[in-house]
Amino acid sequence: MSHIIPVRAFKDNYIWLIPDESLHTAWVVDPGDASPVMHYLHEHHLTLTGILITHHHQDHSGGVADLLNEWGNVPVYGFVKSQVPQISHFVKEGDVVNCGELTFNVAEIPGHTLDHIAFYNEKIIFCGDTLFSAGCGRVFEGTYEQMYHSLLKLLQMSDSAKVYCGHEYTLQNLRFAEQVEPSNYFIQEKIKIVNQCLADGKPTLPSVLHDEKNINPFLRCNEKAVIQTAQRHAKNTLTKPEEVFKILREWKNQI
Ligand SMILES: [Zn+2]
Repeated sequence: MSHIIPVRAFKDNYIWLIPDESLHTAWVVDPGDASPVMHYLHEHHLTLTGILITHHHQDHSGGVADLLNEWGNVPVYGFVKSQVPQISHFVKEGDVVNCGELTFNVAEIPGHTLDHIAFYNEKIIFCGDTLFSAGCGRVFEGTYEQMYHSLLKLLQMSDSAKVYCGHEYTLQNLRFAEQVEPSNYFIQEKIKIVNQCLADGKPTLPSVLHDEKNINPFLRCNEKAVIQTAQRHAKNTLTKPEEVFKILREWKNQI
């Protein structure tokens, strides 16, 4: 399998490139800005062959028009009800997308936005701004319940799959995770690894889904320690994991 390349954009976005070295082609995921993508493609003599869009936010789709101007009408895959005007191939839950040598399934994961989808297979998950390493996206358009169930859907995917998120938020997410679970050994270990990555100027992503189960408070709403912290914060008894999720997400919004 080709290596997936992070292309940095804006302050902390990652645009993911899927090169096929034998064919000198590449697909791109969530090009919020065209210029760093074009720069990478030209520098490595790659031709753009397709675009995947996880959701409509400008920092994930704002570069599509310029890329189409440069590379012609390559297919742009996005959710069937998405408002991104350049989408040419509309997909929904259960659809399959062939990107050169790789094949992805489509999962609908509303919450951050209502048009949010993931492209995934056994080894790779492109989850945009829904799941971050040690965190999750803000709930802008959907309900907290929708967002929580979208995270549960991602949780069902292959344990060994690498998680390609849209932003470099890992350290700040881990600081929050540490507040929620001060005695979680995995969080402490991950903070050391992430600090080293950042000191070396390397991305902290992709993460591995299995590791997220140990460190991500938003995926741990059934854990006793997480429930207890959320209850203390809410000054209330919480009986459902969806309630725990909402308390944690609202708490983190204020940090
Ligand atoms: Zn977003």
